Amino acid sequence: AARRLRVDLAARSYDILIGPNLIDAAGAEIAARRPGARLAIVADETVANLYLARIEAAFAQANLPATAIRVAPGEGSKSFAVFERVVEALIDARIERGDLVVALGGGVIGDLAGFAASVVRRGVDFVQVPTTLLSQVDSSVGGKTGINSAHGKNLVGAFHQPVLVLADTAALDTLPPREFRAGYAEVAKYGLIDDAAFFAELESNWREVFAGGPARLDAIETSCRAKAAIVGRDERESGERALLNLGHTFGHALEKATGFSGRLLHGEAVALGMAQAFRFSARLGLCAPSVAQRVEDHLAEVGLPTRLNQVAGGVGPVDGLMDAIAQDKKVARGALTFILARGVGGAFVARDVAPDAVKAFLEAET
Ligand code: NAD
Ligand code: ZN
Repeated sequence: AARRLRVDLAARSYDILIGPNLIDAAGAEIAARRPGARLAIVADETVANLYLARIEAAFAQANLPATAIRVAPGEGSKSFAVFERVVEALIDARIERGDLVVALGGGVIGDLAGFAASVVRRGVDFVQVPTTLLSQVDSSVGGKTGINSAHGKNLVGAFHQPVLVLADTAALDTLPPREFRAGYAEVAKYGLIDDAAFFAELESNWREVFAGGPARLDAIETSCRAKAAIVGRDERESGERALLNLGHTFGHALEKATGFSGRLLHGEAVALGMAQAFRFSARLGLCAPSVAQRVEDHLAEVGLPTRLNQVAGGVGPVDGLMDAIAQDKKVARGALTFILARGVGGAFVARDVAPDAVKAFLEAET
């Protein structure tokens, strides 16, 4: 049976349903909320080949007319060119107020389709049907949508909350193991931020989470609750939401250093970045070295990278990483903002980190 969570934000609240085979229930769930709505399904080719016919059958059964819009798989689809094509296709499909855009796929599709929905006719509603672990526990919740600029990732976008999230946990069975593992880094992140008991649970249960079944459902539910709670308290990232960036400052620099080439998936970069954030915290005397070791041991045990020398092809010189860090995080009066930790579950926003300390740490890491 599916789990139901509710996200409460100032602007609106919406349901997140988590459970196996929710794709087949998508028609009934949407018809119950929007009878007679016209739908446009945005999916990448890989996900369309696996799940489009099933979701279309569910919509047909609920008497919901649906048009499919397919895009190429991969980060490259978060571009102005593909965005334009999707927007024009939504207008062509006569999606108007009261109708719905359905984002069927991973974070790329959620970000792209959600952003398109935010601008078509000054904003139409959308439903997230996330099909990757990363999108189920992270990107489908919270309302950040957007595409990439020539200047960097996610630089063009909007806050646009979905009206419903349907996370089909059985769809993860077809996800390549490397993608599942990368998404798991974001699951572990919630434990590391503020839930030591969840992290301890993952340390003993991670094999069941990978295998599927109730442990996977539990982990996804706990993760969604954690994200929804943080976003609910700080929708526009004026403070606490920054905690979700644990591991992401180092991680983004590593993604940039590897040229977003697929040598390092986002979640892999985050895993390595979280290991570094804890080692950096230990170096600054904020937590014991044994804590950093514990974090590293768990991430390594599930098969995620935790050390720079594990990145195929290397990450280049420390100066390159420092430039990327300075660009990623607005440098306020010579200080950097980092998410550091006093322990597992004890992450906090540090706004006064000296660039020299970061540089010395990275030199010690290489
Ligand atoms: P993705 O959407 O590219 O999916 C990864 C790959 O898995 C793709 O090749 C896709 O075709 C394939 N796939 C998806 N579902 C599948 C399934 N069930 N079975 C088999 N294959 C499947 O990537 P992602 O990791 O889901 O998301 C990454 C994106 O999310 C990035 O662009 C990132 O910026 C964004 N993101 C956004 C937020 C946010 O808050 N909006 C948060 C985190 C990440
Ligand atoms: Zn992330």
